[in-house]
Amino acid sequence: MKDDLAELLAQVKAKNPGEPEFHQAVYEVFESLAPVLDRHPEYRKGKILQRMIEPERVIMFRVPWQDDSGEVQVNRGFRIGMNSAIGPFKGGLRFHPSVNLGILKFLAFEQVFKNSLTTLPMGGGKGGSDFDPKGKSDNEVMRFCQAFMAELSRHIGPDRDVPAGDIGVGSREIGFLFGMYKKLRNEFTGVLTGKGIGWGGSLIRPEATGYGAVYFAAEMLKTRNEELAGKVCLVSGSGNVAQYTVEKLIEMGARPVTLSDSAGYIYDEAGITREKLAFIMQLKNVQRGRISEYASKFGDAVYTPIDRKLDHNPLWNYQAQCAFPSATQNEINEKDAANLLRNGVYVVSEGANMPTTIGGVNQFLEAKILFGPGKAANAGGVATSGLEMAQNSMRISWTREEVDARLQGIMKAIHKTCRATAERFGTPGNYVNGANIAGFLKVANAMLDQGIV
Ligand code: NDP
Repeated sequence: MKDDLAELLAQVKAKNPGEPEFHQAVYEVFESLAPVLDRHPEYRKGKILQRMIEPERVIMFRVPWQDDSGEVQVNRGFRIGMNSAIGPFKGGLRFHPSVNLGILKFLAFEQVFKNSLTTLPMGGGKGGSDFDPKGKSDNEVMRFCQAFMAELSRHIGPDRDVPAGDIGVGSREIGFLFGMYKKLRNEFTGVLTGKGIGWGGSLIRPEATGYGAVYFAAEMLKTRNEELAGKVCLVSGSGNVAQYTVEKLIEMGARPVTLSDSAGYIYDEAGITREKLAFIMQLKNVQRGRISEYASKFGDAVYTPIDRKLDHNPLWNYQAQCAFPSATQNEINEKDAANLLRNGVYVVSEGANMPTTIGGVNQFLEAKILFGPGKAANAGGVATSGLEMAQNSMRISWTREEVDARLQGIMKAIHKTCRATAERFGTPGNYVNGANIAGFLKVANAMLDQGIV
């Protein structure tokens, strides 16, 4: 890394202590940018990077609510507006006990580049709470969402900041959040995406992130005249992204063999079929059960509980050709990356945000496998959120086929841009550099155009 970038990174660490995920996300982008800054001195002169690492705004608030026993509970709420140079802030809400400012800043920072890549006019933001929806009743989740929105509603709006779902925030939570916003603001607008189909949501939005990650993998394979059909695929997670990744993989003739949750993972050598996926969707989205039940239901599958003492995740230690990490950040460490490569994996398409550690990413790049970083590979979700915003503004609904065609077109365009940009800046085939540089250029140019604000 160039001296001035290393110095800036040191400042980021000093100024944002205790936020390792944010440092990691900034490091990964800085690693790609030296050739761009050298070719375009105007970015250094305009202190574009210094501005991009500082959120435009951070809102942090108390969320008091009452549980079913009448006890008062207090959580912490956040919304970060990272960059609005190319459009209103846009990015999901995460409800998970691990949520803190640093994790949301990493997600908001990544979102800026990702949204820029989608070709749609969206800035980057992220938010959430340390509230854990797991084990809560529907009524408790509703009261929490209402309390959260009581404050958040002051800071968002269809032209200002448009949140969506992420870990722990699915269609149930978006419904409760939207209902409260509408009541408080006395208006029905497209202020959230991921809404129900009957009240402003877009067809294909639930499917979009998983489908998009698979489309991206298919595009990467095409560069080697290959396709997904017949490939064995390792998938982690069992939530929104993982479910629709598996659905699209089955449709394309691939064989997904794993899924996980925070307690463990299943390995089903015969492959997860449509019928088995329907069981998972019912289990996870309706009954809110655990993935271990899959192995009880389908005898051939093996369930392995997570062993936190291990230095690797055994889910990544099976013979396969493709991997779709779709659970959470840093779920593939250096050891896991080495295991994947040793087992024959040569396509990694990141459904989750920053699921691979820096050491893991470096191994993938050195091995020159087809590695699609989350910023590019999982951008289908936010892109389709952008399409939901467009439909809301026009007060029309596109058909399933129309939205899916647009999603495919966007994923192809992102792939093409990443490849062409990587090539233009001297690192052909490196999608990490391609995504970081292409995402950066559009935002940086908009910031220069708009002056020092
Ligand atoms: P969901 O809440 O629907 O599912 C998350 C899944 O990952 C669950 O199976 C969950 O298990 C597991 N998981 C979560 N945290 C951990 C953890 N710390 N350790 C192990 N397993 C964990 O979330 P999504 O599917 O929406 O999101 C998954 C990833 O995709 C995230 O990184 C998110 O940021 C990213 N993403 C999501 C988009 C979207 O449109 N939803 C868009 C782009 C990226 P359990 O149920 O046991 O907690």
